Amino acid sequence: MLKKFFAYYRPYRKLFLLDFCCAVILAVLELCFPLAVSHVIDTLLPEGNLKYIIGACAILLAVYVLNTFLSFVVTYWGHMLGINIETDMRKKLFDHVQKLSFRFFDNTKTGHLISRMTNDLFEIGEVAHHGPEDMFIAVMTLVGAFGIMAFINLPLTIMTFIVVPIIILLVLYFNGKMTKAADRLFGDMADFNARVEDTVGGIRVVQAFSNEKHESKLFEGNNSRFRMAKLISYKIIGFNSSITYMLMRLVTLFVLLAGTWYVIEGDLLYGEFVAFVLMTNIFFKPIEKINAVIESYPRGIAGFRRYVELLETEPDVADSPNAKEVDRLHGDIEYRNVSFGYEGEAKVLDNISLSIKAGETVAFVGPSGAGKTTLCSLLPRFYEISGGSISVDGNDLRDLKLESLRKQIGIVQQDVFLFAGTIRDNISYGKLGASEADIMQAARRARLEEFIASQPDGLDTVVGERGVKLSGGQKQRMAIARMFLKNPPILILDEATSALDTETEQAIQQSLAELSVGRTTLVIAHRLATIKNADRIVVVTENGISEQGLHEELVATGGIYSRLHQAQFGKI
Ligand code: ADP
Ligand code: MG
Repeated sequence: MLKKFFAYYRPYRKLFLLDFCCAVILAVLELCFPLAVSHVIDTLLPEGNLKYIIGACAILLAVYVLNTFLSFVVTYWGHMLGINIETDMRKKLFDHVQKLSFRFFDNTKTGHLISRMTNDLFEIGEVAHHGPEDMFIAVMTLVGAFGIMAFINLPLTIMTFIVVPIIILLVLYFNGKMTKAADRLFGDMADFNARVEDTVGGIRVVQAFSNEKHESKLFEGNNSRFRMAKLISYKIIGFNSSITYMLMRLVTLFVLLAGTWYVIEGDLLYGEFVAFVLMTNIFFKPIEKINAVIESYPRGIAGFRRYVELLETEPDVADSPNAKEVDRLHGDIEYRNVSFGYEGEAKVLDNISLSIKAGETVAFVGPSGAGKTTLCSLLPRFYEISGGSISVDGNDLRDLKLESLRKQIGIVQQDVFLFAGTIRDNISYGKLGASEADIMQAARRARLEEFIASQPDGLDTVVGERGVKLSGGQKQRMAIARMFLKNPPILILDEATSALDTETEQAIQQSLAELSVGRTTLVIAHRLATIKNADRIVVVTENGISEQGLHEELVATGGIYSRLHQAQFGKI
């Protein structure tokens, strides 16, 4: 784990070294300060030469100026190191998460992911900066302090340092507890984010049901669990720091007593005594530092563990090593004995075979939950099939590069997802960097032109989060415009107009018909009137494909389709 962690320092070796060297010099200067004081008291003061004393003070002043500069470097550049590492990790994580499969997102809460990318990484960045540097400086200062103190008076030093192993034991004890507490804290923080995300995302439903109190209660639960987790970690921090504080004071008291005795006995000079007392303070500084690192280290490591876990989550669907690029496909689709299930052994599709010719329009009808959407979502390889094969133009999907496959397939669904941006941003999502003329042409073909013209900001009209500022029909037209720009040879229309009123549906049907010209089109439709003219109608039920043929043929056969048709139109 640590090896993986330190790999992130690589690009910043120089920065780390600079920061580190400055920190070491700072620590050394700090250690020398008591020696300088003792020199002034024991040597310069008895000589009574004011010039030397002023000279010594001038040197001290120069050292202080140097110290100020070094402090700045350590604080600013040191944190820069932490922030750089944090930024790198965040970028890497974001890029990775985007590649994960639908299956991952089906089972992951958005709030948890946000938590991973914000809180966790912030803590890791802090540890990246403070962890190794502070630990090294602390140990170095302790050793240096021991050396200097031993030089002044060995027995007194040994008696003072007895406290160090006690503190180390204490630190180890609290460290274990802190790691557990940090894990809990992170888990609770992620749950907390997920709760906020859920409530705010569904605020329209919350308010429509007047369920604000219910949401508040759920939130309260998360909030108080978060509070408990925080309290536990502060309790540990409190115990640890107050016990250390008490030990520190006891040692200072002991040094005062024993030191006085040594001075009276004549074994210690006044200046040495003062230096020793100053030294005990310096020697406790690294212990405080170690304590601070111990407080943040478990949080950073817990965060880093989750980070690595997420980063090592492989996408279920990925390019095979020798996957190939394809230029524009014709769109001959072949499902051969395809089986698929979302979870465990349960199969949604079992041994399905179906072939669709390039340019054909095939409509899928059947009861809700039969697997129509699933069948279509296997084509862009959103999920990996468990048996059989699917091929396009004779190429098994698994032999094609995902990116090049998905470029060839356009999907218009019932609920259109628009990004929080402008109309322009959302249409040009179909072809990034498309020219204004191309965007306007796509808008015209999707019959959005009038609407855009009626908006004061035109193409730059903001659509709101998920497109809340647009009507259902307008959103659907945006999706169609996007598709005209993308211009894929294969089109999937999954209940694209089911949510619309009949009038809007009819208007949009014209745009969709225009869109599907010259493309292999898979239409899932709820209202049979919209698919009457399809080249083929495929009836999907829980048992797989039950019937297929032209509208008239299926009506004449008197099977499931004719019953569905009768239910919708009352007569045949
Ligand atoms: P249709 O489009 O015909 O209404 P779907 O293909 O959406 O049906 O769903 C088929 C079955 O798969 C349903 O039983 C549904 O509950 C299940 N299902 C759909 N999507 C998922 C998913 N992401 N995870 C788990 N099960 C799913
Ligand atoms: Mg569906």
